Amino acid sequence: MKLAFHGAAGDVTGSCHLVESLGKRILIDCGMRQGSRELDDENAEPFGFDVSSIDFVLLTHAHLDHTGRLPLLFKRGFRGEVISTRATFDLARLVILDVAHLHEETASRGVSAASERNGSQAKPPLFSLVDATNSLGLFGRAALYKQTIEIAPGIRATFYDAGHILGSASILLELNEPAGAVTVLISGDIGNAGRPLLRSPETPSSAKFVVMESTYGDRLHRPFSESVAEFYEAVVAAIAGGGNVLIPTFALDRAQEILYFLRQGVDEGKLPPALPIFVDSPMAVSATEIYQHHPEAYNAEAAEFFARGKDPFQTPGLRLVRDRADSVRINDVKGGAVIMAGSGMCTGGRILHHLRHNIGRENASVIFVGYAAAGTLARRIIDGARHVNLFGDDILVRARIHTINGFSAHADQKELVEWQRSVAGKQQTFLVHGEPPVTLPTLHQVFELK
Ligand code: ZN
Repeated sequence: MKLAFHGAAGDVTGSCHLVESLGKRILIDCGMRQGSRELDDENAEPFGFDVSSIDFVLLTHAHLDHTGRLPLLFKRGFRGEVISTRATFDLARLVILDVAHLHEETASRGVSAASERNGSQAKPPLFSLVDATNSLGLFGRAALYKQTIEIAPGIRATFYDAGHILGSASILLELNEPAGAVTVLISGDIGNAGRPLLRSPETPSSAKFVVMESTYGDRLHRPFSESVAEFYEAVVAAIAGGGNVLIPTFALDRAQEILYFLRQGVDEGKLPPALPIFVDSPMAVSATEIYQHHPEAYNAEAAEFFARGKDPFQTPGLRLVRDRADSVRINDVKGGAVIMAGSGMCTGGRILHHLRHNIGRENASVIFVGYAAAGTLARRIIDGARHVNLFGDDILVRARIHTINGFSAHADQKELVEWQRSVAGKQQTFLVHGEPPVTLPTLHQVFELK
């Protein structure tokens, strides 16, 4: 069999791995490169293989850096079958349609700006909403955890819970090659064990070859429970001070995890029973709805809670806000509320309006619960910026700023090593989805494995 890495090979985005065996070509993930304008531009480059010859795409999970180029794959001729868990399909549909919208919008704005300037054409969108919709039409069989699917004669795939986001999986391929069976395990993104809501990552007992993510291969996380306690303390202090609490959040997974903590905090009496909580993000509202539809993907504690007829994300004071007018109305709330909105790194989205109305107030708080890349507004605020510019207004930062670092959806170094050690019979392990020196680039390199 042949194995080649056409993305996330020496960096952490654009996952796209090609397995060739028994005359079939199987792509594991088809993600988008993200993080800078240069990386955005690289998405339009050739994939590095003949797109129309791909027979199957198996998706490990719905994050954009694992699914985002599926519409482009369709646009360039892929007509095979896409296989994922049901939850991944539901979330991927949301993610893919959202990114297609964004690309069309950005392109049409670019075209009108360029034609106003000099009559020239700006870049066309990477793909259209129609490409996105058509690529969603290629989803075929749904995978259940630990239930083997014969995807083609002699080729079997088994999905194991990766504990990263709802529906996430590590995928074991068993290839009955003429010279003997070969097994390859592709990790996808590996979750942080012991989180609430999701199960801890699982692995098959053995695999000959392992392809493993290594995002935090050089770091250890703080214990989860410490971060949760710190989170409650920050919310309670902020509410006691009379101000609002802003939580910039990623719409997918982090928002649902925070809702889960808030609900647990209210249930356990650590937070006020009627605490007003606004989720001001259509994408986060939809993602939460999808999480509510997939109790089969919860861990035992959350599943038991759900089985008692309770919603793990629901608190008495929760308001889910899609409508823009309702979003604007939140500006009238001067204190005592938790406001969650995107984007997580404050690079755009409704959080900017809430920052404009609150960050200059001494009694307000901003709690960062996710990664903030260099150069983003979130990073500048975390690093102690005295002033921020929001919609042309220069605002003095008076709100209290908290950063809670332990809420990672990725395994840390210790967990990655444990995950890898739990798989017996390994001949070789390939590290992907990491940056040097954790992982060295192997982009488009083909490995012949027996
Ligand atoms: Zn991911």
